[in-house]
Amino acid sequence: LEGHPRLPDWIVQEKVKLSDLHAMKARMRESALHTVCEEARCPNRNHCFTHGTATFLLMGDTCTRACGFCSIRSGRPLPLDPREPEETAQRVASLGLKFAVLTSVNRDDLPDGGAAHFAGTIRAIRRLNPGTGVEVLTPDFMGDLDAVAEVVAAGPAVFNHNTETVPSLYAEVRPAGRFQRSLDVLAHAKRLGTALFGDEFRTKSGLMLGLGETEAELMEVFGKLVEAGVDILTLGQYLRPTRHQLPVKAYVHPDAFAELGRKAKALGFRTVYAGPLVRSSFNAHEVSAMEGIS
Ligand code: SF4
Ligand code: SF4
Repeated sequence: LEGHPRLPDWIVQEKVKLSDLHAMKARMRESALHTVCEEARCPNRNHCFTHGTATFLLMGDTCTRACGFCSIRSGRPLPLDPREPEETAQRVASLGLKFAVLTSVNRDDLPDGGAAHFAGTIRAIRRLNPGTGVEVLTPDFMGDLDAVAEVVAAGPAVFNHNTETVPSLYAEVRPAGRFQRSLDVLAHAKRLGTALFGDEFRTKSGLMLGLGETEAELMEVFGKLVEAGVDILTLGQYLRPTRHQLPVKAYVHPDAFAELGRKAKALGFRTVYAGPLVRSSFNAHEVSAMEGIS
């Protein structure tokens, strides 16, 4: 949050509540978890940890892409750690998580973009933790639909891929991404997941607001996501991780989030989470509990 000393009240207030998190944070560190929650100092840790949800970052800490909003290091990643799927499953068990979210850096250096590694981790978690739901938040696999199919076939309850922003901002926000490619990934995951697991399978996508998008652009994106069969939409405020990332163009008021959320819901999403601190994996546990997916 460097470079933004005067954050709006609705963001600052929520962050102050983090002070009572020490016990859970210590537990997370003790188990040497590589969680996004801790590394990104996510403002929802209180909420998620008390509901037994955490997000794991797979396949290392170096990304082959360099998105304008992201503080993860970009460069040449290390080879995959073949022990990671099993170790992640053991960590899920030791923490007694009810819901595990798996995400990763982009691995455009791998022929399958890391799809087999994702799939292996899902299977290991399900084997060791039959009652734990798994959500994957995946890269676009360069549009490789076989890679998407491999991940879906491993049986995540939720397949999440973020479009992140509106197409007109892709050049600066997500330069190596393509909006249509992301839509194709989501549509394919929905088709296949529904065929394999029936109506309980969910797809999900999300956008950050405050990067310069207009409401008309957002509504167009929402419509396309609904057409692609996306069930769950998350809308949160973009917060600049350090001064090396894109500046915040606007802090969207909570009332405006609520209004946008209502409009999005009216377009046909099953569930919409919209608010300044909503993150992609926010309320993953609730999706599981409310909709009976596990
Ligand atoms: Fe972790 Fe996601 Fe919850 Fe943040 S919203 S604490 S990253 S599970
Ligand atoms: Fe960050 Fe993901 Fe973009 Fe890589 S692909 S720079 S991890 S947002």
